[in-house]
Amino acid sequence: MNTDTPVRVRFAPSPTGPLHIGGVRTALYNYLFARQHGGQLIFRIEDTDSTRFVRGAEEYILEAFRWLGIEFDEGVSFGGDSGPYRQSERRDIYKQYVQQLLDAGRAYVAFDTADELAAKREAVQNFQYDASTRQQMRNELTLGKDETARLIAEGHPYVVRFLIEPGEDVHVDDIIRGDVCINSSILDDKVLWKSADQLPTYHLANIVDDHLMRITHVIRGEEWLPSSPLHVLLYRAFGWQDTMPRFAHLPLLLKPDGKGKLSKRDGDRLGFPVFPLEWHDPKSGETSSGFREDGYLPEAVINFLALLGWNPGGDQELLTMQELIDKFNLEKCSKNGARFDYMKGQWFNREYLLRRSDEELGAEFAELLQREGIEATQEQAAAVVSMMKTKVIEYQTKDGPKKRNVSFISDLWPLCRFFFVAPTAFDRNDKFIKKSWGEGAAAQMQQLRDLLATVDDFSVEGQKAVVDPWVEQTGAKPWNTWRVCLVGEGQGPDMYSLAAFLGKDEVLRRMDFAINTLS
Ligand code: GLU
Repeated sequence: MNTDTPVRVRFAPSPTGPLHIGGVRTALYNYLFARQHGGQLIFRIEDTDSTRFVRGAEEYILEAFRWLGIEFDEGVSFGGDSGPYRQSERRDIYKQYVQQLLDAGRAYVAFDTADELAAKREAVQNFQYDASTRQQMRNELTLGKDETARLIAEGHPYVVRFLIEPGEDVHVDDIIRGDVCINSSILDDKVLWKSADQLPTYHLANIVDDHLMRITHVIRGEEWLPSSPLHVLLYRAFGWQDTMPRFAHLPLLLKPDGKGKLSKRDGDRLGFPVFPLEWHDPKSGETSSGFREDGYLPEAVINFLALLGWNPGGDQELLTMQELIDKFNLEKCSKNGARFDYMKGQWFNREYLLRRSDEELGAEFAELLQREGIEATQEQAAAVVSMMKTKVIEYQTKDGPKKRNVSFISDLWPLCRFFFVAPTAFDRNDKFIKKSWGEGAAAQMQQLRDLLATVDDFSVEGQKAVVDPWVEQTGAKPWNTWRVCLVGEGQGPDMYSLAAFLGKDEVLRRMDFAINTLS
């Protein structure tokens, strides 16, 4: 390919359901590559298989990219000169190219019904429709031109098959995998077009569109590698070998544990999303979780995905979109599958959470509080965030409780509930309460309560000025007991900060309640 040709890449999903996170990674790599080369990224919808079409999938995919900040230059919903970009709207174009292959003798019409093909597969082990068997089948080559024309005129359904010459080594020059070579004898005469719905199959539509849309690089998932020799042969059959795009097949995303491909079941089992956004399946009514709804920040998802299959070398892991664009290197992508380490995804989220200001986080936390029925100002929410964002939370797993750093805004709710909701009961069997509420606790709390009642300036400094001397003189160690009063359990920020946040009235109220209930 001419190196002066401007880079044009495409992301070409089939709207068969929610976009899998691996598809998002593919789109991201296309985006990074396009931006790095000042090229264009095209959004094409490959919907020629109407049996697999799912309502809402296209909108879902577009919404996911809007959320993530992956921008397209042309395509469905974006416009451009190479449209239409939805394959179901390009029937006439494909028909013309299928005819071109038929006229050149590179493809042929075949009438074998599904039943006939099934019977053949039953009778012949590993049956393949190819040079060794096509002479036994009901097609243009065995029936002749006139009979074929007659059957078509009579309305018999047919398909158009690609005529593959056997015994040829077909080379695919893959940017990531190098020279991939297979022998054409193992390929079957793929169906390119079906009269039943007047639509091409994936292979033909894909090649024709990549050509007409002047695509220079095909960057896609590893699952398409086996199709690529066929695609090379199609380019040659059309005489387009000089403008054939370069291929790059990305590594698979692997399960977080063990071997094999990442699947939705892994997400359900281990508790992480495999879709960018929540998805409501229109047929089953089932809801699948999404990164957005689970509280991930888009920049964290981008950073996490970008490093699944590629890394810039060195120690730097936190990279902005611009840094990713500058450093991305398709040639340095790994051939080997990339383990989907979702804990690393959580780590990225925490890092990006801590990079946001308390004001920003406070605004989001206030919204969450409102959903929980708590009225709090953004300032109050921000104050709580700043006290609690670096804490550890305990969470439940099948193997019992585990701990991790606060990584999501939603982690803050169970952790910070006591800021907004006073204890209404105390669990006397709770280890912390048992230890902290001994004999004399009630009397000590009463003293502290009466002392605090005299404090006018209830800021941390104001409380300290009055309480610290009392602690010094009496040798009292009131902190855990006081924590029982205000929190009801052994967690939270330092006591003065908490009391300052709650305010004098609330502090005295909670202390009275605890003294009455526990003594
Ligand atoms: N429609 C295919 C898909 O769903 C596109 C594969 C390709 O990029 O060639 O992934």
